[in-house]
Amino acid sequence: MNAPAGPGVVVPDPVNEPVRRYPAGSAARAGLQQALRQFAGEQLELTNTIGGHSRPGGGEPRDVVVPHEYRRVLGTLRESTHADACAAVAAAKAAAPGWRELAPTDRAAVFLRAAQALAGPWRDIVNAATMLGQGKTAHQAEIDAACELVDFWRFNVAFAARLAGDQPHSITGEWNRLDLRPLEGFVYAVTPFNFTSIAGNLPTAPALMGNTVVWKPAPTQALAAHLLMRLLEAAGLPPGVINLVGGSGVPVSEVVCADPELAGVHFTGSTAVFTRLWQALAANLDRYRGYPRIVGETGGKDFVVAHPSADVDVVRAALVRAAFEYSGQKCSAASRAYLPASLWRRLGSDLAAATEALTVGDVGEFDHFTGAVIDARAYARLAAACTRAADDPSVTILAGARCDDGVGWFVRPTVLLGTDPGREWFTEELFGPILAVYVYDDDRPGAWADVLDLVDRTSAYALTGAVIGTDRAALAQAEQALRFCAGNLSINDAPTGAVVGRQPFGGTRRSGTDDKAGSAQNLLRWVAPRIIKENLDAPLGHPRRSGSNVGENKHQGIHGL
Ligand code: NAD
Repeated sequence: MNAPAGPGVVVPDPVNEPVRRYPAGSAARAGLQQALRQFAGEQLELTNTIGGHSRPGGGEPRDVVVPHEYRRVLGTLRESTHADACAAVAAAKAAAPGWRELAPTDRAAVFLRAAQALAGPWRDIVNAATMLGQGKTAHQAEIDAACELVDFWRFNVAFAARLAGDQPHSITGEWNRLDLRPLEGFVYAVTPFNFTSIAGNLPTAPALMGNTVVWKPAPTQALAAHLLMRLLEAAGLPPGVINLVGGSGVPVSEVVCADPELAGVHFTGSTAVFTRLWQALAANLDRYRGYPRIVGETGGKDFVVAHPSADVDVVRAALVRAAFEYSGQKCSAASRAYLPASLWRRLGSDLAAATEALTVGDVGEFDHFTGAVIDARAYARLAAACTRAADDPSVTILAGARCDDGVGWFVRPTVLLGTDPGREWFTEELFGPILAVYVYDDDRPGAWADVLDLVDRTSAYALTGAVIGTDRAALAQAEQALRFCAGNLSINDAPTGAVVGRQPFGGTRRSGTDDKAGSAQNLLRWVAPRIIKENLDAPLGHPRRSGSNVGENKHQGIHGL
């Protein structure tokens, strides 16, 4: 059913954007290849957008390159300075009155238009930018940059309408109304490299609710971010509503976090950066006009745990997909697996062979399973991890652990068999294609309860996880035992692949504030609800004694705040 947006208004029913396939010889592939070619030989100037004006940042230049061929430069951005950040904050403040006074339907229309454009004429170019800039295969770009972002924009409009329609009860003689006010001030959106959809959602969700935004995308996502900004402008986003400032973010945060009108932070990225941001907010707390809303989705150490009743093929498929798609650079990627010895005897060599068979290369060739990792820093971190794994006596390398940065930042999908479940392979987020496997003795009484307990207490993170098995009682036991170690739990599936509107996404512990991107819960963080009570039958007197009704009209209660 369509959701009401306010008195007499309904918004379109959202449906998940169908995933386009790109088979060889198809028109879809030809269109995407054409878009990929548009970036050949061209180096874009990836400017800031402040108050509707495109201009370069005032700092040092920085190239945005292709991860699988890092000598190829796609564009150049300039680090944003304090002055750029001040200008962005001023533009956000200046645009706020006009934007919040627009009817919610007018704001929603901008994002519905953006969704329509992304599903249609902008699809190929945004997908191509995500493939080249962020190293995604066509399929991974399609489910992220096209489908998920279209879904965020369409579903958020419906969620916002539902929130506005959820009005308080009114009794006879009184009318109670909910006014979903935007926050008083501006919102700071800081987005990661690994999802174009998250980059698009974090600034637009607060904007949909009437806020203006300073948006700091990741430098390695700057090409697709630049295109999203152009798309939003084409969809009618007024100048100053979202102000894009590129670069590392350090000078931008220094300005933004010290501004009294900072009203919210919408962050996705690593736990370490989010922790630093929160500390900066705490240090500035006395300056703020109000308490800033803080929403952060951060790191993960996502698990797959199999029961002896699990189907071996389901386990293999879940592990390969969840650990190695996009080279393990999804926050939901499986990086630790707990498998029963009885199943491992049938799976071990198969999993190693399946992993070695995955092809890694130029994502523009369409046939590779995955591409390079995002940048030299990630490559160095992962190559060092492979070296440490080779030196760790508790680890046997079953597949991969080979790296090559001659042309691109390639790290082979890697399976490590570890006998010590307390080692870093099972506890730390490595954020690459490295899966650690721990085999438990399922002959022992209580083995299932023990392994669930191990999964729960091993990692500081609690983002996603998967339980695989066919024994219903064992699945039910796992659902209870793992209640607090994943915000998104899959049963008989990979822990990756959340879909907007169906599996709202987010985790707890060191994985974030669990404000579920792509849900009404998230949108509620960007409003300050006001309740207006109008008395339609105003009292004409006052009581003479405590507890007396004399002087009150017949409908007035005697309790309340
Ligand atoms: P990151 O923390 O390195 O960067 C995130 C953003 O913060 C980038 O825009 C970066 O430039 C910026 N940044 C860094 N220091 C900053 C500062 N001092 N001030 C302002 N901005 C600053 O993360 P990343 O490498 O882009 O993304 C990978 C991380 O994100 C992983 O840890 C992954 O698990 C996490 N992630 C989580 C989710 C989720 O939903 N939980 C989703 C995607 C990614």
